[in-house]
Amino acid sequence: MQLTLGEPEQVVILKGAWEAALVELKEQVNSATYERWIRTLTPVGRTGSSISLATNGEFARQWITRKFADSLAASLSSALGEPVTVQIVLDERAKTEQAPPPPVAKKKAAGPEPAIRRPSFIQKYTFDRFVEGNSNRLALAGAQAVAAQPGKKFNPLFIYGGPGLGKTHLLHAIGQHVVARDACSRIVYLTGQVFAEEFIHSVKTGRVGQFRSMQRSVDIWLVDDVQLIAGKERTQEELFHTFNFLYEGGRQIVICSDRPPRELYLMEERLRSRFESGLVADISPPDFETRAAILIKKAEEEGVTLPMDVVDLMADRIQSNIRKLEGSLCRLLAEASLAGCPPTVEMAAKVLHNFFEDANAAKPSPEAIIEASAECHGVTVDEVMGKGRKQAVTGARQVAMYLCREIWSLPWKQIGTLFRKDHSSAIYAHKSIGEELVRNPDLQRVLDEIVEAARSKRQG
Ligand code: ADP
Ligand code: MG
Repeated sequence: MQLTLGEPEQVVILKGAWEAALVELKEQVNSATYERWIRTLTPVGRTGSSISLATNGEFARQWITRKFADSLAASLSSALGEPVTVQIVLDERAKTEQAPPPPVAKKKAAGPEPAIRRPSFIQKYTFDRFVEGNSNRLALAGAQAVAAQPGKKFNPLFIYGGPGLGKTHLLHAIGQHVVARDACSRIVYLTGQVFAEEFIHSVKTGRVGQFRSMQRSVDIWLVDDVQLIAGKERTQEELFHTFNFLYEGGRQIVICSDRPPRELYLMEERLRSRFESGLVADISPPDFETRAAILIKKAEEEGVTLPMDVVDLMADRIQSNIRKLEGSLCRLLAEASLAGCPPTVEMAAKVLHNFFEDANAAKPSPEAIIEASAECHGVTVDEVMGKGRKQAVTGARQVAMYLCREIWSLPWKQIGTLFRKDHSSAIYAHKSIGEELVRNPDLQRVLDEIVEAARSKRQG
């Protein structure tokens, strides 16, 4: 039996399961792998117990099949509650996109230009699907200004914020807006990770020149997750020169990162100050109103009107990450469609319950982090929470504060309160450990061990 898109109930269930599987997979692989290989997949259909996931290139298809088919199947099976297998297929759109790109406008064709393939933007990441709120207003305005007049207003535009808050959405929206207006603009969209990989590959295969002219022949350069090149010196150097080249040529540069330029500790100072030289806009977690508006809008896009008490409950419980808000909405819609009735508060409560259990399972609690850090430094939790300034005590405290920020993205003030200190000691601790990591890369191993130890506490 072939179930294809177009059968709404199956589609909703599959999409819901996929969102749930994503949450699980995200905890299993590192974030670069997740962004590059896993999150870009789209569930496209189901035949019996075989689920088809689409990707956009033959290399990706083979690679994902080899490396991730088993974990994808496992996560989808648990999300669907029945054993399924996974097949990676080529995206239909990708097949047609292999067609030659549209001719480049004459004025730009000075000398042979390297071919730039149009990035495949996620269609639904457009400006009109982006819900505006206090938390993202500046970033949205910046993105819209840049899309309307590339290279004219805010250059570079640097957007930062925690995971799942809409950075990638805005980058894709800029790209799609520009393409819609001028099909000839040359756009590159890539993540820091892809920039690094392609650069290193070009070095190995003696094609740096080609890589360079490709990056430098663009009108709009969209770099997502730039923090992923932290610590990679030659890549940073290359990025720096590309940046300068494009900047001096008046091309638009937009960069996204999970943290502000000054917190990119493993990044060279000259790059950080370049990043700060235009508009720096942050996206913070959405307030209640915005979360509610997002839920209502996304449900409407699926043709469902959510009862107000459901919106209230869900917007209240999921606060810090819009991807999670979407994921739980997807599960709720799947539940409702299975039950054959509109979503109810009871269903929402059940979905939220399961959702939190899964999503937080792999993260050690702040308390466990504090305990593990104290143990690793040979001091007690009381000392960590106290006022003592002995070196081992400060070490344990700063490491624990740093990890609380990195793992839970807690506000500074909350970290301060948790440790019975003020917010400035939390900021200072985060900065010191961040800088220490630059000088002493072995520290990362210590941090990893503490996180591991903290995790096992939670289970034990
Ligand atoms: P980030 O890149 O910051 O981690 P994404 O851009 O991938 O986050 O966003 C995660 C999900 O949340 C996406 O599906 C995106 O469409 C959605 N999203 C984020 N912010 C908004 C918003 N303001 N309005 C509507 N959807 C949003
Ligand atoms: Mg992103």
